[in-house]
Amino acid sequence: MQAKPIPVPDELTRPFWEAAREHRLVVQRCIACGYYNHPPRSACDACLAQQLRFEQVSGQGRIYSFTVMHQRDVPGFEAEAPFINIVVELNEQPMLLMVSNLPFSERERVRIGTPVKVDFEERGEIVVPQFRILDP
Ligand SMILES: [Zn+2]
Repeated sequence: MQAKPIPVPDELTRPFWEAAREHRLVVQRCIACGYYNHPPRSACDACLAQQLRFEQVSGQGRIYSFTVMHQRDVPGFEAEAPFINIVVELNEQPMLLMVSNLPFSERERVRIGTPVKVDFEERGEIVVPQFRILDP
C-alpha cells in the first residue's frame, strides 16, 4: 500500500501550509475589497486586485456537499475506503469552500448543513487541514 499523497507547497500556497503546520487555518484575502479567495491565486476573484494576504479564519463551517467514496483504487487511501468526501463552506463567506474527508463511521451524522470545525492531520513533513463534525 502506498503512503498518502503529500501536497507540494509552491510560492502561492506556501503560507497556507506553513500556517497549517502551526495548526492555524488561513485563507488568502483581498486587501482592496476584503473578499476571501481559496485556493490561493494571484488575483482576487471579486475585483481582480493583486494585493492579497493570508488571514487566519475561524476554522468553522458547515457541510455544503458530500459523497461516499467506495473505490479502493486511490493510492494511499486503499485501506480507508469507504470514506466520506465533504465540501465545507466556511462561516466567513458564502461559497468559500474547502475539501476534506471523514471516516465512514461518521455516515449517520453527515448531512448538508452539519456544523464542522477544522482539525489538523499530521502527514509526515506536512500538516493537512481536515474538518470534523462538531459534537452537538
Ligand atoms: Zn478583491
